[in-house]
Amino acid sequence: MRLSQFHLHTSKEIPAEAELVSHKLMLKAGMIRKLASGLYTWTPLGLRVLRKVERIVREEMDAAGAIEMLMPTVQPRELWEESGRWEKFGGQLLKMQDRKEAWYCYGPTHEEVITDFARNELASYKQLPIVFYQVQAKFRDEIRPRFGVMRAREFLMKDAYSFHLDEADLDRQYGVMHDAYSRIFTRLGLRFRAVFADTGAIGGSASHEFHVLADSGEDAIAFSDGSGYAANVELAEAVAPHSRPAASEDMREVETPVQKTCEDVAALLGLELSRTVKSIALVGADGFVLALVRGDHTLNEIKLAKVEGLGEYRFATEAEILEHLGSRPGFLGPVRPAKTIRIIADRSVAAMADFVVGANRDGFHLAGVNWGRDLPEPVVVADIRNVSAGDPSPDGSGTLAIARGIEVGHIFQLGRQYAQALGCSVLDANGKAATPTMGCYGIGVSRIVAAAIEQNHDDNGIAWPEAMAPWQAVVCVINPKKDPGVAEAADALHRELNGRGVETAMDDRGLRPGAMFADMELIGIPHRIVVSERGVAAGTFEYRHRRAAEAENLDRATLLDRIG
Ligand code: ATP
Ligand code: MG
Ligand code: MG
Ligand code: MG
Repeated sequence: MRLSQFHLHTSKEIPAEAELVSHKLMLKAGMIRKLASGLYTWTPLGLRVLRKVERIVREEMDAAGAIEMLMPTVQPRELWEESGRWEKFGGQLLKMQDRKEAWYCYGPTHEEVITDFARNELASYKQLPIVFYQVQAKFRDEIRPRFGVMRAREFLMKDAYSFHLDEADLDRQYGVMHDAYSRIFTRLGLRFRAVFADTGAIGGSASHEFHVLADSGEDAIAFSDGSGYAANVELAEAVAPHSRPAASEDMREVETPVQKTCEDVAALLGLELSRTVKSIALVGADGFVLALVRGDHTLNEIKLAKVEGLGEYRFATEAEILEHLGSRPGFLGPVRPAKTIRIIADRSVAAMADFVVGANRDGFHLAGVNWGRDLPEPVVVADIRNVSAGDPSPDGSGTLAIARGIEVGHIFQLGRQYAQALGCSVLDANGKAATPTMGCYGIGVSRIVAAAIEQNHDDNGIAWPEAMAPWQAVVCVINPKKDPGVAEAADALHRELNGRGVETAMDDRGLRPGAMFADMELIGIPHRIVVSERGVAAGTFEYRHRRAAEAENLDRATLLDRIG
């Protein structure tokens, strides 16, 4: 690809609203352009990266036995009435009418449509198990679209849905998808963790989220490398990756008797709350119960509510919590939220946005509640005393670490609720009607691009993992007009690299070297080769890896060896 014939449009100026590094760099590099709140155009450059992600996702889905299809983004109201989600889904559901005044929504997810497809297509147990997937746009009317494509309103998701006769088979497929997800994020070159997520009120037996580790992540995840235990939990999310209750709507009615602004809390604690992800905590007098509370990026919107029914509590700093956790290396407990936690007004926790709950063997309880993402109001944690310890696995080794993560994938055993609600059944081996049990598996394809940048950048720009780079290599041509030998050498190398399967661009835009190198570093091309008059005369190429401190002069064979 000759960059003189491509549309590359880098910029120095970026809007003030871009806070996250990934958002800034995607704008600077010219990967995305904002159309309206939460709506982004992927430029030709951005699209190259997005397609890389899609390709790996597709390859691994195919390898896992999933079959690709494509469902409409616009979905009829009637289907959503059948599942009961037309009202329940809440404010994220974008509803619209056609000229006949019939109602539709722009799909935030596709359980209804796939179950409708399945009830028409599947008749016999012999067709099961089966897994369908698509890579399709979703629209969610997020309360606070922000961070560019990280939390957009229209975004690209890979969503898969599986149908099984029994739980054991669903479990098997769930394992297959779990492995496929791990391979996807490994191939993408990302540092990630798969963490247990609670299934909440909807039931189902298992749910995991895949998080790319990054300090800017909106979620808190807890894990112990010593034991391999990873417990994250954001409850409402876990409740239903694709069928969550209308948290934001419900929350409006929740009463919070005592509220403090974040500044109040900060003053009380003598804390400096300066950034997005500051945690504060409540510590119980009757045993150590605490809540990690994370603020929104606009901290003055945060309110802290009193915990009811838990006696006297005081606030603790994050340092205190970590110290406490560090002194109790046995924290390995499972996450068990739903039955034991209530919020004020006796609403099920299923209505909450996200939190982390766990317990260790000696009854140490930990609850983290986040708000500020989908919730206009604070959420109150009430009774977490009954959190029970024990359960599978703890071996007492390792210490709990709490890290920030970006949710890039979510797999979930749905059970039979959608099949039942929509009347989807197949004939079993005895000729009797059986309702299939379902799994659903989502990946935030467009979010991955931003998450990868959060993990892979420096002061000069993006430093793509090889698998995601728009091009693996770029040949920078210096002053080709002055010396035809330079243009020829660059042309030949450009052709040769592409011929060897190294996706290579040639920067023949005629920029000065400084500006050209700055652009290539900004857009994050892993391998840069400079062809100049001096190099041609000496029979060498100047080579530099994006992450290397220095450039080296290599002869052709060594160069090809290095990157070909
Ligand atoms: P979040 O907790 O970030 O709101 P979610 O739990 O609501 O995400 P799921 O319903 O689990 O999202 O959807 C599957 C995947 O789609 C998520 O793991 C995430 O990677 C991606 N995703 C969800 N919402 C958005 C969004 N607004 N913008 C970009 N990607 C998103
Ligand atoms: Mg979530
Ligand atoms: Mg969400
Ligand atoms: Mg989710």
